[in-house]
Amino acid sequence: MKYVYFFGNGDADGDESMRAELGGKGANLAQMAKAPLSLPVPAGFTITTDVCQKYYELGRKYPEELYPQVDEYLAKLESVMGKKLGDENDPLLVSVRSGAAISMPGMMDTILNLGLNDKAVEGLTKKTGNERFAWDAYRRFIQMYGDVAMGVDHDKFEAIIDEVKEKAGVKQDTELTTENLKEIVSKYKAMYKKEKGEDFPQDAKQQMWGAIGAVFGSWMNPRAIKYRKLNNIKEGALKGTAVTVMAMVFGNKGETSGTGVCFSRDPSTGENVFMGEYLMNAQGEDVVAGIRTPQKLAQLEQTNKKIYDELCQIRDRLEKHYHDMQDMEFTVEEGKLYMLQCRNGKRTGAAAVKMAVDMVKEGLIDKETAIMRVEPEQLNQLLLPQLDKDAVKKATEIAAGLNASPGAGCGQIVFTAEEAEEWAKNGKKVLLVRKETSPDDIAGMAVSQGILTSTGGRTSHAAVVARGMGTPCVCGCSDVTFKDAETVVIKGKNYKKGDFLTIDGATGLVYEGQVAVKPATISGDLETFLGWADEIRANSERVTESGNTVKGFDIYANGDTPQNAIDAFRFGAMGIGLCRTEHMFFDEPKLTDFQKMIISEDTAARKENLAKILPHQQKDFYEIIKTMEGRPVTIRLLDPPLNEFIQAETDSQLTALAQKLGVDKEALSRKVMQLAEHNPMLGHRGCRLAITYPEIYEMQVEAIARATAQLEKESKKHNVLIMIPNVVSYNEVEQIRKQAEAVIDKVNKEKGVNLKFEIGSMIEFPRAALSAGKIAKYADFFSFGTNDLTQTTFGFSRDDYGKFIESYLQQRILEDDPFATLDEDGPAALMEIAEEKGRTVNQHLHLGICGEHGGDPASIHICYRIGLNYVSCSPYRVPLARLAGAQAVIDYERKHQ
Ligand code: PEP
Ligand code: MG
Repeated sequence: MKYVYFFGNGDADGDESMRAELGGKGANLAQMAKAPLSLPVPAGFTITTDVCQKYYELGRKYPEELYPQVDEYLAKLESVMGKKLGDENDPLLVSVRSGAAISMPGMMDTILNLGLNDKAVEGLTKKTGNERFAWDAYRRFIQMYGDVAMGVDHDKFEAIIDEVKEKAGVKQDTELTTENLKEIVSKYKAMYKKEKGEDFPQDAKQQMWGAIGAVFGSWMNPRAIKYRKLNNIKEGALKGTAVTVMAMVFGNKGETSGTGVCFSRDPSTGENVFMGEYLMNAQGEDVVAGIRTPQKLAQLEQTNKKIYDELCQIRDRLEKHYHDMQDMEFTVEEGKLYMLQCRNGKRTGAAAVKMAVDMVKEGLIDKETAIMRVEPEQLNQLLLPQLDKDAVKKATEIAAGLNASPGAGCGQIVFTAEEAEEWAKNGKKVLLVRKETSPDDIAGMAVSQGILTSTGGRTSHAAVVARGMGTPCVCGCSDVTFKDAETVVIKGKNYKKGDFLTIDGATGLVYEGQVAVKPATISGDLETFLGWADEIRANSERVTESGNTVKGFDIYANGDTPQNAIDAFRFGAMGIGLCRTEHMFFDEPKLTDFQKMIISEDTAARKENLAKILPHQQKDFYEIIKTMEGRPVTIRLLDPPLNEFIQAETDSQLTALAQKLGVDKEALSRKVMQLAEHNPMLGHRGCRLAITYPEIYEMQVEAIARATAQLEKESKKHNVLIMIPNVVSYNEVEQIRKQAEAVIDKVNKEKGVNLKFEIGSMIEFPRAALSAGKIAKYADFFSFGTNDLTQTTFGFSRDDYGKFIESYLQQRILEDDPFATLDEDGPAALMEIAEEKGRTVNQHLHLGICGEHGGDPASIHICYRIGLNYVSCSPYRVPLARLAGAQAVIDYERKHQ
């Protein structure tokens, strides 16, 4: 097997198509070196990622065939460069660099100036006539090699430099004389021997193998593992890193030399301007380490027009070649320019969108390529307030929880929703910190800059409601404990009510104090861009596993309030896929009426209370339906865990609630006990309520029919669908449908209209999915409630899984959090069964998803493949879903071509 690929001297063995084997860096160096680009690249060779994979398979050993191949290509490199590694008179020096197929900037190791030893340093002096340069290179090499390859503590090297600088009375490294540098080298070597029990390796080949081992080893360093985790790169998805051994060119050979980094467009705004930074008389690490302040690239035009013009030309050629923004590293050695690296540059969400749109307009890429260029999650950055990046660097991170709802929130901490309201009324910015939230907290949540809870998962009340509101939320943060009414303790430190904390809902991190927050900006390009995504989805067509042809793929929003509907509409939702009607009772006076209804002693009392609720519901429905201007609005009949609405755990809470509801405290206490359930999530909820108390759904259907009739009379557009939750049997659907139709008939007659509503079933339990054929006889549509479907397929409680999911992910028992990304073997498999059974009975059965997975890009891909007509997600995730849906279409078409 070929393990080593050469590049340089105007040619290369590999090319850009070999990213998987050569890593991004190796593949691009090969491509730059050969025609048609033929750019000035120092020669070298790349050891493939296959070796990295084998290295770990063999217990950190190389495959035997590697050694002769490295010898062969090292000889070739020496012959091309006309120098030999370790030569006493004119040594070849190399850099040893990492590079995986997906770029992981700064995560793995690099070693420069390799090949220097006590003799070669003299040779380098003779050859360059620059003794100081040679000794500086040698001391840098010992430090880098000792630290990176041999694990000698970095600080020990720094201590020696500081000691010599102090003795010499200088502040900057650049002020050190040759004699100082010689002293440093001698002290480094002595320290190295003490630390490692052997001399610093003098054999250049031994050094090279040590460096190669260090780079392969760095693939599994904690920093690289964490980076892959944060960027959703699954362990095993890549073969590992490649290692590139490349002839050194020196940017630190005096004032005609230098080194820099540049971008073909601005990576933070996306503007088509050439930008970058450079330092004269420096090596790459000086730019990174921030020892000296680099100069702006524009200045190079003034000081060295020839190099600047050459760089501009290269920039244009590379962009045209790669059809993407390039991030480039260059070095100038005594007036000659070398390219050390190019790669597609990382960029912010705003820049990604602007570049994609601009490049389509410039004819550089087509719309499909543009759509694939932007990570869906990047769009969040365009829509929500963000933590200021520079401020985060200086901030103190104090805890981490689940990243439940993105955006940055900073405020004074309060521990109850009432306090949040009160403080907000007085003009204060608050951050609500709770063990968990309940419907009672809604008003307080609405005025908070962010929500932090110590328990609960991604589908907990706090998380769902926060996402719906577009409020940042970190939940399940077990580092937070409640000491008393005035204090929380986070990792042993007390935080008092009124202290400032900041959360980042996108990362789940919590910071002490106030970290600056930047408001969202929406650029006009975003609209153009998402318009293309909509076009791609609208024109899509696929054949499901079960053989059904499905056209189009819409994005709906979950929205419970007129405000949600306005947001959904603004973000481009094609409809409302889930209106959770129980959420409409979170604020007063509806909450009190609803609580009275729950504690009603008999049907007559319940009906009386329901009659009071009806006009409120009708008004809310009217507003939502009107806001959506004839787009589908799927209203789900009530699905409340009843006990959540009646919370009276302490005697004083019970007294207050009894007073508010005007009932006897003892009677209320009995009722609370009756309502208590061991397992409310699997208790008396959803349509089970209507099987026991049909009058509840009858009131809701009446409110829906009356609101629609009102719009009909006003000649306003409407398109309402009624949805039944928690179905396990077709009998439930048949019975509830009959009752609903009777109510609709009654309203039709009364109002002189002829309204018809599609009535559908949620599929959120395995039994419903498995008997979908029977249910489809009575349902006009299915909506997959994948929160409950995941809960019941896994048997993981939605509210408690936060306690163990991290262990499952860390030990790779599960690859993903199943409440965040649809699980293919569980709920998604049941959805496929339901699709087939349902559409066999009713070919036109409309299918959608309204669980939280509807806003997750990976799950959206699965939903498209299964043949869903739409996904529905919280309003703030609609733009992301519009894009992810289009990417699902393109991906599917590429795979099925
Ligand atoms: C679901 O279960 O996926 C769903 C949408 O319903 P809820 O989250 O309200 O139980
Ligand atoms: Mg549900």
